[in-house]
Amino acid sequence: MTPTPVIPVAGAELPSPVVPRPAALLILARDGEEGLEVFMLQRTGKADFVPGANVFPGGGVDAADSEPGIAAFAGELNDATASAALGLPAGGLGYWVGAVRECFEEAGLLLAQRRDGDALDFAQPEVAARFAELRRALNAGRTTFAELCAAESLRLTLDRMVYFAHWITPVGMNRRYDTRFFVAPAPLGQLASHDEAETVDSVWIRPADALERHAQGSFSLVYATRETLQALSGFATVADLMAHARGVSGIAARMPRVGTGPKGRHVVGPRDACYAELGFIDPHGHGQALCQIVPGTAVRLAEGVWRLTAANPSYMTGPGTNTYLLGDAEGVTVIDPGPADPEHVRAILAHAPGPITQILVTHTHSDHSPAAALLKAQTGASVIGLPAPPGVQDQTFAPEYCPEDGDSIPTRAGTLQVLHTPGHASNHLCYLHPATRLLFSGDHIMQGSTVVINPPDGDMRTYLASLERLLAEDIGHIAPAHGFLMDDPQGVVRELIAHRLRREAVILRALQTDGPATTEALLPRVYAHISGPLKKVAARSLQAHLDKLEKDEKVSLQDGVWHATNAGTEGG
Ligand SMILES: [Zn+2]
Repeated sequence: MTPTPVIPVAGAELPSPVVPRPAALLILARDGEEGLEVFMLQRTGKADFVPGANVFPGGGVDAADSEPGIAAFAGELNDATASAALGLPAGGLGYWVGAVRECFEEAGLLLAQRRDGDALDFAQPEVAARFAELRRALNAGRTTFAELCAAESLRLTLDRMVYFAHWITPVGMNRRYDTRFFVAPAPLGQLASHDEAETVDSVWIRPADALERHAQGSFSLVYATRETLQALSGFATVADLMAHARGVSGIAARMPRVGTGPKGRHVVGPRDACYAELGFIDPHGHGQALCQIVPGTAVRLAEGVWRLTAANPSYMTGPGTNTYLLGDAEGVTVIDPGPADPEHVRAILAHAPGPITQILVTHTHSDHSPAAALLKAQTGASVIGLPAPPGVQDQTFAPEYCPEDGDSIPTRAGTLQVLHTPGHASNHLCYLHPATRLLFSGDHIMQGSTVVINPPDGDMRTYLASLERLLAEDIGHIAPAHGFLMDDPQGVVRELIAHRLRREAVILRALQTDGPATTEALLPRVYAHISGPLKKVAARSLQAHLDKLEKDEKVSLQDGVWHATNAGTEGG
């Protein structure tokens, strides 16, 4: 078999990413006959940045947007307040002013009034004509925004704008912006128009319609605009939108990344499963890292570390079982060789950069350890792990060395530290690789689905304790046996614990409010939304929770019926 080419990783010789330029944009909203509408411009196909895309008015924040003189036109808003709202030490006011200036330049809409409080009346032809000329002069650089404001005795109505979102252009793009999105009601009595230069068309459109037209292929949108329209589509009126926006604080920056999918390069966001992995293996944003897990295709995760996924996808195994290879031409360590699939074993042998000397397993479920015997027969490598409990799981697994918690296992790619993490399985081990700060987590943590705790070998109480202990380890990313690399390990672990405790609280509450029940009667009360094959899995999880609650003395079993105890009632 010809080895599949390994995905290359960005090297140190590559240029540093472009530093994003500060930018601001203004989403103007109005109440249309069929609901909230926003103003969008279509960029010229000749534009350097996102040609042909439909966008909100906006652009780069100029130095002049932050000059001290501009504060005179900013009304109540000062730089300290503006910066605080954006989470910046200083310079925040420039984003507000830049958004208004860009919106006037690009759309002809000016979020301003006279200093005496009068609205700008573009219904008067001479006023409209004068401002049209001022817009041309501003676009041509014949006047500055501050001069324009002074000449027309304007006060910018920045108090009508609310900070709404923060997007940063993906690493790897040759033009990048760090953009603050604002929302505001459209100024009354003004007519929006595109400039026929940078922008060639414009439209007031319902966010849902824009998304619909995009889906049909007739309305080009970039990722951040699409996500923003998705958020905007949840509001029926301008008042709803503004009330919501005023109530939000602590807006996090979002930075999409570029990866390669079945149809070529595309942008992915933080909600996509591959997002964290793209940041880890392609920090310079070259876009060649894969957005999907392809069985038989090796992915290079770091120097001397690869992932190769077995072709056993299912509702239990997600995209398939991940086998990890660590090492070099001198020797290779395999973690979780996978199911007894000769094709997968052949792929492991083909992708190993050198002779396989060690086979490690995380636990002895049938999708993780059975290939150890096949691989051992072909390589003579030493087999490391803990044996299966008597009579269940993979009885063919015959480790020559049973590591203990805290042991170090040397590999050609650096030492692995053994963490005994019972819970999913009593013999479960995780392997921490300090050189990369990757935790090979087996099934202790998997991506995209809840780990099954199947008693009696699975144990919820020890599972939660094994999660807790990970909080003390120095982990950068989790490398699960199912799914992509995951970042924010502390957050992931805390949420997994919280999820189980929430479920436990639901079970306790069901017993308290609806009275004692058998396991069978409890199942639909606790897992109402689950059907099909997952129902069996849910029944095992419920049993695991009840076992834990019994050990915690919060429930007791009497003649096959579960009762909440006083401790459960007080504690729950
Ligand atoms: Zn398992």
